[in-house]
Amino acid sequence: MCGIVGIIGHNDISAELLKMLHGLEYRGYDSSGIAVNFNGDFQVYKKAGPLSVLRQEIEGITLQGTSGIGHTRWATHGAPTDNNAHPFLSLNSSVTVVHNGIIENYKVLRKTLLEKGYVMASETDSEVIAHLIELFVDNNPNWTFRDLVVYLSDTLEGAYALLIQFADKPNEIYGLRFECPLAYVQTANTVAISSDIASLIGYDRNINILRDGQAVHITLDNEELINFDSTEVDRLHVSVDWDVKAAEKSGYDYFLRKEIDEQSDSVRALKRTLIDKAEKITAFIKDTNPDTVIFIACGSASYSGVFASVFARHAELKQTVSWEIGSEFRYNPPIINEKTLVIGMSQSGETADTVTALRYAKSKGAKVISIINVVGSTISMIGDLTINLSAGPEVAVPSTKAVINQFISAVFLIEVLRNQEQDFLTQWLLTVDELATVIGKIIEQEEVIKNYAKQLAGHQNMFIVGRGLDYSISLEGALKLKETAYIHAEAMYAGEFKHGSISLIEYGMPVLILLGDESVAAKTIINAEEVATRGGQLFIIDSLAGENFDFSCEVNYIKIPPIKKPFNLISQIVVLQLLAYHAGLHRNINVDKPRNLAKSVTVE
Ligand code: GLU
Repeated sequence: MCGIVGIIGHNDISAELLKMLHGLEYRGYDSSGIAVNFNGDFQVYKKAGPLSVLRQEIEGITLQGTSGIGHTRWATHGAPTDNNAHPFLSLNSSVTVVHNGIIENYKVLRKTLLEKGYVMASETDSEVIAHLIELFVDNNPNWTFRDLVVYLSDTLEGAYALLIQFADKPNEIYGLRFECPLAYVQTANTVAISSDIASLIGYDRNINILRDGQAVHITLDNEELINFDSTEVDRLHVSVDWDVKAAEKSGYDYFLRKEIDEQSDSVRALKRTLIDKAEKITAFIKDTNPDTVIFIACGSASYSGVFASVFARHAELKQTVSWEIGSEFRYNPPIINEKTLVIGMSQSGETADTVTALRYAKSKGAKVISIINVVGSTISMIGDLTINLSAGPEVAVPSTKAVINQFISAVFLIEVLRNQEQDFLTQWLLTVDELATVIGKIIEQEEVIKNYAKQLAGHQNMFIVGRGLDYSISLEGALKLKETAYIHAEAMYAGEFKHGSISLIEYGMPVLILLGDESVAAKTIINAEEVATRGGQLFIIDSLAGENFDFSCEVNYIKIPPIKKPFNLISQIVVLQLLAYHAGLHRNINVDKPRNLAKSVTVE
């Protein structure tokens, strides 16, 4: 995820572009760049690092020109370097492009272009688009907007929002939207176009939103809006009354809530990344041929390792799969050798304890797979192979999008270890779409969840209970409730309760029961009733369509539409996120920045 902007009709174009990009920085902040069109020449400035680095770079330089495009990046292909930053120029500098999304078939396109003598200035998937457009224009001198849109939508596979400018058309911008957002405003003297209305409302509050599969060609006094099949469409018009601060959160009160909503998209983005990388991952694992697999991580990231190690047993894997907490591993390491595959998980890619643990494992000869959400981070560079979680930037400290994607990638690696058939893996990955849909359905039940959260908010202590795979989910739920709502939630193996902790149950104590692992659900229900008999207040999260579950006591029930295992279990995390979010709000907590925490834990 990143932010793209374009503007026509101002005197100080670079200042306007920087202002717009500032409103989008939350979408990506590893590098940024702008291109200003001055009388048919593009002046391009791009820098790795936050927007302030680019701002410094162009300070004092007056960029002349009356239009331009800009980008703030969240790298997916190629590390965050100056060269990999957008915008990209075509070979003869006749075209410049900024791109948000992933071009899945970029390797094939890149190869074709290289064969035709094009030279690539970056490692990104995006650069090919600029060259392809130049090639298209050279081959079709009488091209029209419609031709261009049909050509690009036929040629590019993946997800994209694009802004395109031609050197010889200084006051025109072309925009295409496919699975990544794009909106624009047009006033008497300005055209502004952007990934997000956050950076548009400074120009006009009447916003035009492109739908998926639409493209626009805009000038100061004209606009043409079409579908990719080149039929004309009416504008989708909204009038927005947010203030600029609210707009950065797209109208949400908190980034946390916004990021919960973004999970259907981020899950799909990971699916694309894994499909793209499946061959490489399979070859790597075949090559390594491990007899032991160890997941190493801290906090939420570590629970995906717990989940994967139980799932490996369900999958009857021949390797031993276990998990370790980074901060413990470094002082109490297990036996590691050349036959060990270590999988390091970290949202930021900078978690100090995990960094040290992975370095140690490498020094003992282990092969390392790094799974991170920040391209170019320290952990991404330690790995012999790196997988990008593709969750896009997270601003809220409690992690949501990255966690769900960590669970999916962990399970995916178990599937690769079990079955290295490409067809099987691609089919398996397609079922990730079901999870994306169910996430939306869970969010539709927010009112019910909110009501339960209100009840939880009145308590200082609670349990989250499950067996088998459900237990790993309860660990994540407990941490979410602790960090977001300051409730002391304890994850508990359902069968362990009676061995001590059940003595804490007193009248009204909330106990959340997870029913996602069908092999143990009936047993968990028995344990739940033991708790209810002693006064515990039961909240059930059921992702098994448990019409058959018969409770003899009163329960608060949340039913999730059932999907294939293990995705049904992963979907339960979304309910726990919403419970934690609303319980946090009831307790007047700034859920984006809970006390004492930081997003990236770079100290031991
Ligand atoms: N795939 C592009 C890149 O890595 C765009 C990334 C994005 O949308 O964040 O540069």
